[in-house]
Amino acid sequence: APQIEPDPSKKTLVILGTGWGSVSLLKRLDTENYNVIVISPRNYFLFTPLLPSCTTGTIEHRSIMEPIRTILRSKRANVKYYEAEASSIDPERKVVKVFDASEVRGDTAETEVPYDMLVIGVGAENATFGIPGVREHSCFLKEIGDAQLIRKKIMDCVETAAFKDQKPEEIDRLLHMVVVGGGPTGVEFAGELQDFFEEDIKKLIPDISDRFRVTLIEALPNVLPSFSKQLIEYTESTFKEEKIDIKTKTMVKNVTDKSVEAEVTGPDGKKEKVVFPYGLLVWATGNAVRPVVKDLMARIPAQKDSRRGLAVNEYLVVQGARDIWAVGDCAVAGYAPTAQVASQEGNFLARLFNNMAKTEMLEENIRELSGSLNLKPGNAAEISRQIEEYERQLRRIKDIKPFHYSHQGSLAYIGSEKAVADVSWFNGNLATGGSLTFLFWRSAYLSMCFSTRNRLLVINDWLKSKLFGRDVSRE
Ligand code: FAD
Ligand code: NAD
Repeated sequence: APQIEPDPSKKTLVILGTGWGSVSLLKRLDTENYNVIVISPRNYFLFTPLLPSCTTGTIEHRSIMEPIRTILRSKRANVKYYEAEASSIDPERKVVKVFDASEVRGDTAETEVPYDMLVIGVGAENATFGIPGVREHSCFLKEIGDAQLIRKKIMDCVETAAFKDQKPEEIDRLLHMVVVGGGPTGVEFAGELQDFFEEDIKKLIPDISDRFRVTLIEALPNVLPSFSKQLIEYTESTFKEEKIDIKTKTMVKNVTDKSVEAEVTGPDGKKEKVVFPYGLLVWATGNAVRPVVKDLMARIPAQKDSRRGLAVNEYLVVQGARDIWAVGDCAVAGYAPTAQVASQEGNFLARLFNNMAKTEMLEENIRELSGSLNLKPGNAAEISRQIEEYERQLRRIKDIKPFHYSHQGSLAYIGSEKAVADVSWFNGNLATGGSLTFLFWRSAYLSMCFSTRNRLLVINDWLKSKLFGRDVSRE
Protein backbone atom coordinates (compact mmCIF):
# COMPACT_ATOMS: atom_id res chain seq x y z
CA ALA A 1 0.00 0.00 0.00
CA PRO A 2 1.31 3.48 -0.75
CA GLN A 3 2.89 5.16 2.24
CA ILE A 4 1.39 8.58 3.01
CA GLU A 5 3.77 10.08 5.57
CA PRO A 6 7.50 10.49 4.87
CA ASP A 7 9.55 7.55 6.10
CA PRO A 8 12.33 8.91 8.39
CA SER A 9 14.62 6.02 7.45
CA LYS A 10 14.65 7.16 3.82
CA LYS A 11 16.33 10.09 2.14
CA THR A 12 14.20 12.96 0.87
CA LEU A 13 14.57 13.46 -2.87
CA VAL A 14 13.22 16.79 -4.10
CA ILE A 15 12.62 17.19 -7.84
CA LEU A 16 12.06 20.67 -9.30
CA GLY A 17 9.98 20.92 -12.48
CA THR A 18 7.49 18.79 -14.40
CA GLY A 19 9.06 19.05 -17.85
CA TRP A 20 10.92 16.57 -20.02
CA GLY A 21 13.84 16.03 -17.65
CA SER A 22 11.96 15.69 -14.37
CA VAL A 23 9.09 13.62 -15.72
CA SER A 24 11.41 11.14 -17.46
CA LEU A 25 13.19 10.74 -14.13
CA LEU A 26 9.90 10.20 -12.30
CA LYS A 27 8.67 7.70 -14.84
CA ARG A 28 11.58 5.33 -14.23
CA LEU A 29 12.36 6.06 -10.59
CA ASP A 30 11.63 3.37 -8.00
CA THR A 31 9.88 5.86 -5.73
CA GLU A 32 9.68 3.45 -2.79
CA ASN A 33 13.39 4.00 -2.13
CA TYR A 34 13.03 7.69 -1.26
CA ASN A 35 10.60 10.24 0.13
CA VAL A 36 9.97 11.91 -3.21
CA ILE A 37 8.70 15.49 -3.44
CA VAL A 38 7.95 17.14 -6.77
CA ILE A 39 7.72 20.94 -6.94
CA SER A 40 6.60 22.82 -10.04
CA PRO A 41 4.30 25.75 -10.84
CA ARG A 42 2.84 23.68 -13.69
CA ASN A 43 0.79 20.71 -12.53
CA TYR A 44 1.13 18.92 -15.85
CA PHE A 45 3.69 17.62 -18.29
CA LEU A 46 3.68 19.40 -21.66
CA PHE A 47 4.59 17.63 -24.89
CA THR A 48 6.41 20.63 -26.41
CA PRO A 49 7.09 19.19 -29.91
CA LEU A 50 3.41 19.63 -30.79
CA LEU A 51 3.01 23.05 -29.16
CA PRO A 52 3.38 24.97 -32.46
CA SER A 53 0.30 23.08 -33.74
CA CYS A 54 -1.76 24.49 -30.85
CA THR A 55 -1.25 28.07 -32.02
CA THR A 56 -3.57 27.52 -34.96
CA GLY A 57 -5.88 24.90 -33.49
CA THR A 58 -4.54 21.98 -35.57
CA ILE A 59 -4.26 20.42 -32.13
CA GLU A 60 -6.25 21.45 -29.06
CA HIS A 61 -3.96 22.32 -26.16
CA ARG A 62 -5.29 19.80 -23.64
CA SER A 63 -4.41 16.95 -26.00
CA ILE A 64 -0.70 17.48 -25.30
CA MET A 65 -0.95 17.97 -21.54
CA GLU A 66 -0.74 15.14 -19.00
CA PRO A 67 -1.62 15.97 -15.37
CA ILE A 68 1.23 15.28 -12.96
CA ARG A 69 -1.33 13.85 -10.53
CA THR A 70 -2.19 11.13 -13.06
CA ILE A 71 1.48 10.41 -13.63
CA LEU A 72 2.14 10.11 -9.88
CA ARG A 73 -0.87 7.88 -9.25
CA SER A 74 0.82 5.09 -11.18
CA LYS A 75 3.91 5.15 -8.94
CA ARG A 76 4.36 2.38 -6.39
CA ALA A 77 4.99 4.66 -3.42
CA ASN A 78 3.31 7.91 -2.59
CA VAL A 79 4.98 10.98 -4.10
CA LYS A 80 4.17 14.45 -2.80
CA TYR A 81 3.49 17.22 -5.28
CA TYR A 82 3.44 20.93 -4.43
CA GLU A 83 2.25 23.42 -7.05
CA ALA A 84 4.86 26.07 -6.39
CA GLU A 85 7.85 27.82 -7.87
CA ALA A 86 11.29 27.50 -6.33
CA SER A 87 12.62 31.00 -5.70
CA SER A 88 16.00 30.06 -4.26
CA ILE A 89 18.12 27.10 -3.26
CA ASP A 90 20.43 27.13 -0.24
CA PRO A 91 23.07 24.45 -0.81
CA GLU A 92 24.55 24.98 2.68
CA ARG A 93 21.34 24.43 4.64
CA LYS A 94 19.97 22.04 1.98
CA VAL A 95 16.61 23.73 1.63
CA VAL A 96 14.57 25.06 -1.28
CA LYS A 97 12.51 28.20 -0.80
CA VAL A 98 9.19 27.91 -2.61
CA PHE A 99 6.14 30.09 -3.17
CA ASP A 100 2.69 29.62 -4.60
CA ALA A 101 2.74 31.54 -7.89
CA SER A 102 -0.86 30.76 -8.87
CA GLU A 103 -3.92 32.98 -8.60
CA VAL A 104 -5.50 31.30 -5.60
CA ARG A 105 -3.28 31.53 -2.53
CA GLY A 106 -3.86 30.43 1.03
CA ASP A 107 -2.58 31.98 4.25
CA THR A 108 0.64 30.09 3.66
CA ALA A 109 1.94 30.93 0.22
CA GLU A 110 5.65 30.71 0.91
CA THR A 111 7.71 28.10 2.72
CA GLU A 112 10.89 26.02 2.74
CA VAL A 113 11.36 22.41 1.70
CA PRO A 114 14.43 20.57 3.06
CA TYR A 115 16.16 17.96 0.89
CA ASP A 116 18.79 15.27 1.19
CA MET A 117 19.07 15.02 -2.58
CA LEU A 118 17.92 17.64 -5.11
CA VAL A 119 17.28 17.42 -8.85
CA ILE A 120 16.92 20.70 -10.72
CA GLY A 121 14.87 20.40 -13.90
CA VAL A 122 13.38 23.88 -14.16
CA GLY A 123 14.12 24.37 -17.88
CA ALA A 124 14.92 27.78 -19.31
CA GLU A 125 13.14 31.03 -19.97
CA ASN A 126 12.83 32.97 -23.22
CA ALA A 127 15.88 34.92 -24.34
CA THR A 128 15.24 38.54 -25.27
CA PHE A 129 18.87 39.77 -25.08
CA GLY A 130 17.50 42.89 -23.39
CA ILE A 131 16.18 44.13 -26.73
CA PRO A 132 13.76 46.97 -25.94
CA GLY A 133 10.06 46.31 -26.41
CA VAL A 134 10.27 42.52 -26.77
CA ARG A 135 8.67 41.60 -23.43
CA GLU A 136 5.92 44.21 -23.79
CA HIS A 137 4.87 43.60 -27.37
CA SER A 138 5.67 40.09 -28.54
CA CYS A 139 4.29 36.64 -27.86
CA PHE A 140 6.62 33.81 -26.89
CA LEU A 141 6.06 30.15 -27.73
CA LYS A 142 7.05 28.01 -24.78
CA GLU A 143 4.02 27.27 -22.65
CA ILE A 144 0.37 26.41 -23.22
CA GLY A 145 -0.69 29.95 -22.30
CA ASP A 146 1.61 31.33 -25.02
CA ALA A 147 0.02 29.13 -27.70
CA GLN A 148 -3.47 30.13 -26.55
CA LEU A 149 -2.56 33.81 -26.68
CA ILE A 150 -1.12 33.49 -30.19
CA ARG A 151 -4.22 31.65 -31.40
CA LYS A 152 -6.41 34.40 -30.05
CA LYS A 153 -4.25 37.17 -31.49
CA ILE A 154 -4.10 35.67 -34.98
CA MET A 155 -7.89 35.77 -35.17
CA ASP A 156 -8.02 39.21 -33.60
CA CYS A 157 -5.67 40.54 -36.29
CA VAL A 158 -7.73 38.87 -39.01
CA GLU A 159 -11.08 40.15 -37.73
CA THR A 160 -9.66 43.64 -37.14
CA ALA A 161 -8.26 43.68 -40.68
CA ALA A 162 -11.76 42.81 -41.92
CA PHE A 163 -13.30 45.68 -39.92
CA LYS A 164 -15.47 48.07 -41.91
CA ASP A 165 -13.54 50.95 -43.54
CA GLN A 166 -10.12 49.65 -42.46
CA LYS A 167 -7.47 51.42 -44.59
CA PRO A 168 -5.41 49.23 -46.97
CA GLU A 169 -2.11 50.10 -45.27
CA GLU A 170 -3.53 49.14 -41.90
CA ILE A 171 -4.93 45.89 -43.32
CA ASP A 172 -1.44 45.06 -44.57
CA ARG A 173 0.06 45.75 -41.16
CA LEU A 174 -2.56 43.73 -39.28
CA LEU A 175 -2.14 40.75 -41.58
CA HIS A 176 1.64 40.80 -41.40
CA MET A 177 2.73 38.05 -39.02
CA VAL A 178 6.38 38.43 -38.03
CA VAL A 179 8.39 35.63 -36.48
CA VAL A 180 11.81 36.44 -35.02
CA GLY A 181 14.28 33.54 -34.73
CA GLY A 182 14.88 30.97 -37.46
CA GLY A 183 15.54 28.04 -35.12
CA PRO A 184 13.15 25.06 -35.15
CA THR A 185 10.54 26.90 -33.02
CA GLY A 186 10.30 29.86 -35.41
CA VAL A 187 10.34 27.65 -38.51
CA GLU A 188 7.66 25.25 -37.26
CA PHE A 189 5.43 28.10 -36.14
CA ALA A 190 5.78 29.93 -39.47
CA GLY A 191 4.82 26.71 -41.28
CA GLU A 192 1.77 26.12 -39.10
CA LEU A 193 0.67 29.72 -39.53
CA GLN A 194 0.86 29.58 -43.31
CA ASP A 195 -1.12 26.28 -43.31
CA PHE A 196 -3.83 27.86 -41.19
CA PHE A 197 -4.09 30.70 -43.61
CA GLU A 198 -4.04 28.64 -46.79
CA GLU A 199 -6.37 25.93 -45.57
CA ASP A 200 -8.91 27.81 -43.49
CA ILE A 201 -8.79 31.59 -43.14
CA LYS A 202 -8.60 32.13 -46.91
CA LYS A 203 -11.81 30.18 -47.45
CA LEU A 204 -13.69 31.78 -44.60
CA ILE A 205 -12.62 35.40 -45.12
CA PRO A 206 -11.78 35.61 -48.85
CA ASP A 207 -11.93 39.41 -49.09
CA ILE A 208 -8.62 39.88 -47.23
CA SER A 209 -6.96 36.68 -48.34
CA ASP A 210 -4.30 38.05 -50.67
CA ARG A 211 -2.86 40.38 -48.05
CA PHE A 212 -1.81 37.83 -45.40
CA ARG A 213 1.97 37.56 -45.09
CA VAL A 214 4.38 35.67 -42.87
CA THR A 215 7.96 36.94 -42.44
CA LEU A 216 10.64 34.97 -40.63
CA ILE A 217 13.59 37.03 -39.42
CA GLU A 218 16.93 35.39 -38.63
CA ALA A 219 20.21 37.05 -37.63
CA LEU A 220 22.44 34.30 -39.10
CA PRO A 221 22.95 33.63 -42.85
CA ASN A 222 20.43 30.75 -42.81
CA VAL A 223 17.54 29.23 -40.86
CA LEU A 224 17.71 25.92 -38.93
CA PRO A 225 21.45 26.19 -38.20
CA SER A 226 21.49 22.78 -36.49
CA PHE A 227 20.23 20.90 -39.57
CA SER A 228 22.25 19.70 -42.55
CA LYS A 229 22.88 22.03 -45.48
CA GLN A 230 20.64 20.09 -47.83
CA LEU A 231 17.67 20.38 -45.44
CA ILE A 232 18.28 24.07 -44.87
CA GLU A 233 18.05 24.58 -48.63
CA TYR A 234 14.95 22.40 -48.83
CA THR A 235 13.27 24.38 -46.03
CA GLU A 236 14.17 27.69 -47.62
CA SER A 237 12.81 26.66 -51.02
CA THR A 238 9.62 25.21 -49.48
CA PHE A 239 9.09 28.47 -47.61
CA LYS A 240 9.47 30.34 -50.88
CA GLU A 241 6.70 28.22 -52.43
CA GLU A 242 4.56 28.72 -49.35
CA LYS A 243 5.19 32.46 -49.68
CA ILE A 244 6.86 32.73 -46.31
CA ASP A 245 9.39 35.50 -46.58
CA ILE A 246 12.73 34.62 -44.97
CA LYS A 247 14.93 37.55 -43.99
CA THR A 248 18.35 36.23 -43.06
CA LYS A 249 21.34 38.26 -41.83
CA THR A 250 18.70 40.46 -40.23
CA MET A 251 19.14 41.23 -36.55
CA VAL A 252 16.22 42.72 -34.64
CA LYS A 253 17.33 45.66 -32.50
CA ASN A 254 14.14 47.27 -31.28
CA VAL A 255 10.44 46.48 -31.03
CA THR A 256 7.52 48.89 -30.77
CA ASP A 257 3.81 48.12 -30.46
CA LYS A 258 3.35 48.12 -34.24
CA SER A 259 6.77 47.57 -35.80
CA VAL A 260 10.03 45.70 -35.60
CA GLU A 261 13.28 47.52 -36.33
CA ALA A 262 16.17 45.48 -37.59
CA GLU A 263 19.64 45.76 -39.07
CA VAL A 264 20.34 43.94 -42.32
CA THR A 265 23.87 43.06 -43.38
CA GLY A 266 24.13 43.32 -47.14
CA PRO A 267 26.42 41.18 -49.38
CA ASP A 268 29.04 43.96 -49.25
CA GLY A 269 28.99 43.88 -45.43
CA LYS A 270 27.19 47.20 -45.22
CA LYS A 271 24.53 47.49 -42.53
CA GLU A 272 21.15 48.95 -43.23
CA LYS A 273 18.15 49.67 -41.02
CA VAL A 274 14.77 48.16 -41.95
CA VAL A 275 11.35 48.47 -40.36
CA PHE A 276 8.68 45.77 -40.46
CA PRO A 277 5.17 46.86 -39.44
CA TYR A 278 3.33 43.90 -37.90
CA GLY A 279 -0.01 42.73 -36.54
CA LEU A 280 1.34 39.73 -34.65
CA LEU A 281 4.92 39.31 -33.46
CA VAL A 282 6.20 35.95 -32.21
CA TRP A 283 9.61 35.93 -30.54
CA ALA A 284 11.54 32.65 -30.75
CA THR A 285 15.21 33.40 -30.24
CA GLY A 286 16.05 30.54 -27.89
CA ASN A 287 16.79 30.11 -24.21
CA ALA A 288 17.98 32.18 -21.25
CA VAL A 289 18.85 31.09 -17.68
CA ARG A 290 16.03 31.22 -15.09
CA PRO A 291 16.52 33.50 -12.04
CA VAL A 292 16.45 30.58 -9.55
CA VAL A 293 19.30 28.93 -11.47
CA LYS A 294 21.26 32.18 -11.77
CA ASP A 295 20.90 32.68 -8.02
CA LEU A 296 22.24 29.20 -7.27
CA MET A 297 25.13 29.66 -9.71
CA ALA A 298 26.10 32.84 -7.88
CA ARG A 299 26.30 30.89 -4.60
CA ILE A 300 28.69 28.22 -5.97
CA PRO A 301 32.24 29.41 -6.78
CA ALA A 302 32.79 26.51 -9.22
CA GLN A 303 29.94 27.86 -11.40
CA LYS A 304 31.64 31.23 -11.85
CA ASP A 305 32.56 30.69 -15.50
CA SER A 306 29.38 28.98 -16.57
CA ARG A 307 27.05 31.18 -18.63
CA ARG A 308 24.26 29.13 -20.14
CA GLY A 309 23.23 27.21 -17.03
CA LEU A 310 24.46 24.89 -14.29
CA ALA A 311 27.69 23.18 -15.31
CA VAL A 312 27.33 19.47 -14.48
CA ASN A 313 29.80 16.59 -14.53
CA GLU A 314 29.35 13.33 -16.47
CA TYR A 315 27.01 12.02 -13.75
CA LEU A 316 24.92 15.22 -14.01
CA VAL A 317 26.09 16.37 -10.57
CA VAL A 318 26.15 20.17 -10.33
CA GLN A 319 29.84 21.13 -10.26
CA GLY A 320 30.94 22.45 -6.90
CA ALA A 321 27.78 21.32 -5.07
CA ARG A 322 26.92 18.26 -2.99
CA ASP A 323 23.81 16.15 -3.53
CA ILE A 324 22.48 18.38 -6.31
CA TRP A 325 21.91 17.15 -9.86
CA ALA A 326 20.61 19.08 -12.88
CA VAL A 327 18.85 17.91 -16.05
CA GLY A 328 17.54 19.43 -19.27
CA ASP A 329 17.68 23.01 -20.46
CA CYS A 330 18.99 24.38 -17.13
CA ALA A 331 22.02 22.05 -17.18
CA VAL A 332 25.15 22.48 -19.27
CA ALA A 333 26.41 19.02 -20.11
CA GLY A 334 27.69 19.77 -23.60
CA TYR A 335 24.49 18.94 -25.51
CA ALA A 336 21.78 21.00 -27.24
CA PRO A 337 18.82 22.10 -25.12
CA THR A 338 16.32 19.59 -26.50
CA ALA A 339 13.59 17.31 -25.18
CA GLN A 340 15.59 14.36 -26.43
CA VAL A 341 18.59 15.27 -24.29
CA ALA A 342 16.46 16.19 -21.25
CA SER A 343 14.56 12.91 -21.31
CA GLN A 344 17.71 10.81 -21.67
CA GLU A 345 19.25 12.70 -18.76
CA GLY A 346 16.12 12.08 -16.67
CA ASN A 347 16.27 8.36 -17.50
CA PHE A 348 19.93 8.26 -16.56
CA LEU A 349 19.28 9.82 -13.14
CA ALA A 350 16.46 7.36 -12.49
CA ARG A 351 18.86 4.47 -13.14
CA LEU A 352 21.52 6.13 -11.02
CA PHE A 353 19.18 6.72 -8.07
CA ASN A 354 17.65 3.24 -8.31
CA ASN A 355 21.18 1.83 -8.20
CA MET A 356 22.26 4.06 -5.36
CA ALA A 357 19.31 2.84 -3.29
CA LYS A 358 20.06 -0.80 -4.13
CA THR A 359 23.73 -0.27 -3.26
CA GLU A 360 22.88 1.20 0.10
CA MET A 361 20.50 -1.67 0.83
CA LEU A 362 23.13 -4.28 -0.07
CA GLU A 363 25.82 -2.52 1.96
CA GLU A 364 23.45 -2.41 4.92
CA ASN A 365 22.74 -6.16 4.53
CA ILE A 366 26.47 -6.92 4.38
CA ARG A 367 27.10 -4.84 7.51
CA GLU A 368 24.36 -6.71 9.38
CA LEU A 369 25.54 -10.14 8.23
CA SER A 370 29.17 -9.37 9.08
CA GLY A 371 28.06 -8.36 12.56
CA SER A 372 26.19 -11.63 13.00
CA LEU A 373 29.19 -13.75 11.90
CA ASN A 374 30.70 -13.75 15.40
CA LEU A 375 27.35 -14.20 17.08
CA LYS A 376 26.41 -17.32 15.13
CA PRO A 377 29.66 -19.25 14.48
CA GLY A 378 27.63 -22.36 13.56
CA ASN A 379 26.15 -20.56 10.53
CA ALA A 380 29.43 -18.97 9.48
CA ALA A 381 29.68 -20.82 6.16
CA GLU A 382 26.12 -19.93 5.14
CA ILE A 383 26.53 -16.30 6.24
CA SER A 384 29.83 -15.94 4.35
CA ARG A 385 28.19 -17.35 1.25
CA GLN A 386 25.40 -14.77 1.57
CA ILE A 387 27.88 -11.94 2.09
CA GLU A 388 29.76 -13.04 -1.01
CA GLU A 389 26.55 -13.08 -3.00
CA TYR A 390 25.67 -9.54 -1.87
CA GLU A 391 29.19 -8.38 -2.67
CA ARG A 392 28.92 -9.86 -6.12
CA GLN A 393 25.64 -8.00 -6.68
CA LEU A 394 27.21 -4.84 -5.31
CA ARG A 395 30.14 -4.99 -7.72
CA ARG A 396 27.72 -5.32 -10.62
CA ILE A 397 25.60 -2.38 -9.51
CA LYS A 398 28.43 0.00 -8.68
CA ASP A 399 29.68 -0.20 -12.21
CA ILE A 400 27.40 2.56 -13.55
CA LYS A 401 28.80 4.31 -16.57
CA PRO A 402 28.73 8.11 -16.96
CA PHE A 403 25.87 9.70 -18.88
CA HIS A 404 26.15 9.25 -22.60
CA TYR A 405 23.72 10.96 -24.99
CA SER A 406 22.58 8.99 -27.99
CA HIS A 407 21.26 11.24 -30.75
CA GLN A 408 18.23 9.79 -32.50
CA GLY A 409 17.98 12.61 -35.03
CA SER A 410 16.28 15.96 -35.57
CA LEU A 411 12.82 16.46 -36.98
CA ALA A 412 10.92 19.61 -37.85
CA TYR A 413 7.59 20.40 -39.52
CA ILE A 414 7.88 23.09 -42.20
CA GLY A 415 4.28 23.54 -43.39
CA SER A 416 2.14 22.28 -46.32
CA GLU A 417 2.38 18.73 -45.01
CA LYS A 418 6.15 18.60 -45.33
CA ALA A 419 8.81 17.95 -42.74
CA VAL A 420 12.60 17.70 -42.59
CA ALA A 421 14.52 14.99 -40.78
CA ASP A 422 18.17 14.35 -39.98
CA VAL A 423 18.11 10.87 -38.56
CA SER A 424 20.65 8.24 -37.64
CA TRP A 425 20.15 5.27 -39.88
CA PHE A 426 22.19 2.08 -39.44
CA ASN A 427 25.17 4.03 -38.09
CA GLY A 428 24.92 6.55 -40.91
CA ASN A 429 22.99 9.74 -41.35
CA LEU A 430 19.90 10.19 -43.43
CA ALA A 431 18.66 13.65 -44.38
CA THR A 432 15.18 13.70 -45.87
CA GLY A 433 12.50 16.25 -46.54
CA GLY A 434 9.01 16.13 -47.98
CA SER A 435 5.60 14.52 -47.62
CA LEU A 436 6.85 11.06 -46.64
CA THR A 437 9.00 12.69 -43.99
CA PHE A 438 5.84 14.43 -42.83
CA LEU A 439 4.17 11.07 -42.26
CA PHE A 440 7.29 9.92 -40.45
CA TRP A 441 7.22 13.12 -38.36
CA ARG A 442 3.59 12.54 -37.43
CA SER A 443 4.06 8.90 -36.50
CA ALA A 444 7.28 9.60 -34.58
CA TYR A 445 5.68 12.34 -32.50
CA LEU A 446 2.56 10.28 -31.99
CA SER A 447 4.59 7.39 -30.62
CA MET A 448 6.45 9.79 -28.31
CA CYS A 449 3.26 11.24 -26.80
CA PHE A 450 3.07 10.72 -23.06
CA SER A 451 0.05 8.42 -22.84
CA THR A 452 -2.46 6.51 -24.93
CA ARG A 453 -5.00 9.14 -23.94
CA ASN A 454 -2.77 11.89 -25.42
CA ARG A 455 -2.23 9.81 -28.55
CA LEU A 456 -5.95 9.32 -29.16
CA LEU A 457 -6.70 12.99 -28.54
CA VAL A 458 -3.98 14.09 -30.98
CA ILE A 459 -5.23 11.71 -33.71
CA ASN A 460 -8.74 12.99 -33.10
CA ASP A 461 -7.57 16.62 -33.45
CA TRP A 462 -5.71 15.87 -36.68
CA LEU A 463 -8.78 14.18 -38.15
CA LYS A 464 -11.09 16.92 -36.95
CA SER A 465 -9.06 19.76 -38.45
CA LYS A 466 -8.62 17.85 -41.72
CA LEU A 467 -12.33 17.05 -42.06
CA PHE A 468 -13.96 20.23 -40.76
CA GLY A 469 -11.14 22.76 -40.89
CA ARG A 470 -9.62 24.51 -37.88
CA ASP A 471 -11.90 26.33 -35.50
CA VAL A 472 -11.51 30.08 -36.10
CA SER A 473 -13.56 31.26 -33.09
CA ARG A 474 -11.58 33.87 -31.20
CA GLU A 475 -11.81 32.48 -27.72
P1 FAD B 1 10.89 22.01 -19.49
O1 FAD B 1 10.30 20.91 -20.28
O2 FAD B 1 10.76 23.40 -20.00
O3 FAD B 1 10.30 21.94 -18.02
C1 FAD B 1 10.65 22.82 -17.00
C2 FAD B 1 9.71 22.61 -15.84
O4 FAD B 1 10.15 23.37 -14.71
C3 FAD B 1 8.28 23.05 -16.12
O5 FAD B 1 7.40 22.15 -15.54
C4 FAD B 1 8.21 24.40 -15.42
O6 FAD B 1 6.89 24.73 -15.03
C5 FAD B 1 9.08 24.12 -14.19
N1 FAD B 1 9.64 25.32 -13.54
C6 FAD B 1 9.96 26.50 -14.09
N2 FAD B 1 10.45 27.34 -13.15
C7 FAD B 1 10.44 26.66 -11.98
C8 FAD B 1 10.82 26.98 -10.66
N3 FAD B 1 11.32 28.19 -10.33
N4 FAD B 1 10.65 26.04 -9.70
C9 FAD B 1 10.14 24.82 -10.00
N5 FAD B 1 9.78 24.47 -11.24
C10 FAD B 1 9.93 25.37 -12.23
N6 FAD B 1 12.95 19.42 -28.33
C11 FAD B 1 13.08 18.29 -29.07
O7 FAD B 1 13.96 17.48 -28.79
N7 FAD B 1 12.25 18.03 -30.10
C12 FAD B 1 11.25 18.88 -30.46
O8 FAD B 1 10.51 18.64 -31.41
C13 FAD B 1 11.08 20.07 -29.69
N8 FAD B 1 10.10 20.94 -30.00
C14 FAD B 1 9.95 22.08 -29.24
C15 FAD B 1 8.93 22.97 -29.59
C16 FAD B 1 8.77 24.14 -28.85
C17 FAD B 1 7.68 25.09 -29.21
C18 FAD B 1 9.64 24.41 -27.75
C19 FAD B 1 9.46 25.66 -26.94
C20 FAD B 1 10.65 23.53 -27.44
C21 FAD B 1 10.82 22.37 -28.19
N9 FAD B 1 11.85 21.46 -27.89
C22 FAD B 1 11.97 20.30 -28.62
C23 FAD B 1 12.78 21.71 -26.79
C24 FAD B 1 12.29 21.02 -25.52
O9 FAD B 1 10.94 21.34 -25.24
C25 FAD B 1 13.13 21.41 -24.31
O10 FAD B 1 14.47 21.17 -24.57
C26 FAD B 1 12.68 20.61 -23.10
O11 FAD B 1 11.38 21.00 -22.73
C27 FAD B 1 13.63 20.78 -21.92
O12 FAD B 1 13.17 20.00 -20.86
P2 FAD B 1 13.36 20.49 -19.36
O13 FAD B 1 12.82 19.42 -18.50
O14 FAD B 1 14.72 20.97 -19.14
O15 FAD B 1 12.44 21.80 -19.26
P1 NAD C 1 17.26 28.45 -31.21
O1 NAD C 1 18.24 28.93 -30.23
O2 NAD C 1 17.45 27.14 -31.86
O3 NAD C 1 17.15 29.52 -32.40
C1 NAD C 1 17.02 30.89 -32.17
C2 NAD C 1 17.42 31.67 -33.42
O4 NAD C 1 17.16 33.04 -33.20
C3 NAD C 1 18.92 31.54 -33.73
O5 NAD C 1 19.06 31.00 -35.01
C4 NAD C 1 19.43 32.97 -33.60
O6 NAD C 1 20.42 33.28 -34.56
C5 NAD C 1 18.17 33.81 -33.83
N1 NAD C 1 18.24 35.14 -33.21
C6 NAD C 1 18.67 35.45 -31.96
N2 NAD C 1 18.55 36.78 -31.73
C7 NAD C 1 18.04 37.33 -32.85
C8 NAD C 1 17.68 38.66 -33.22
N3 NAD C 1 17.84 39.69 -32.39
N4 NAD C 1 17.17 38.86 -34.45
C9 NAD C 1 17.00 37.84 -35.30
N5 NAD C 1 17.31 36.54 -35.00
C10 NAD C 1 17.82 36.30 -33.79
O7 NAD C 1 15.83 28.58 -30.50
P2 NAD C 1 14.51 27.69 -30.63
O8 NAD C 1 14.11 27.52 -32.05
O9 NAD C 1 13.52 28.28 -29.71
O10 NAD C 1 14.94 26.29 -30.07
C11 NAD C 1 15.37 26.11 -28.71
C12 NAD C 1 15.82 24.68 -28.51
O11 NAD C 1 14.71 23.80 -28.63
C13 NAD C 1 16.85 24.23 -29.53
O12 NAD C 1 17.78 23.39 -28.92
C14 NAD C 1 16.03 23.44 -30.52
O13 NAD C 1 16.77 22.41 -31.13
C15 NAD C 1 14.92 22.87 -29.65
N6 NAD C 1 13.72 22.70 -30.49
C16 NAD C 1 13.68 21.61 -31.31
C17 NAD C 1 12.60 21.44 -32.16
C18 NAD C 1 12.58 20.26 -33.09
O14 NAD C 1 13.44 19.42 -33.00
N7 NAD C 1 11.60 20.15 -33.95
C19 NAD C 1 11.55 22.38 -32.18
C20 NAD C 1 11.65 23.49 -31.34
C21 NAD C 1 12.75 23.64 -30.50
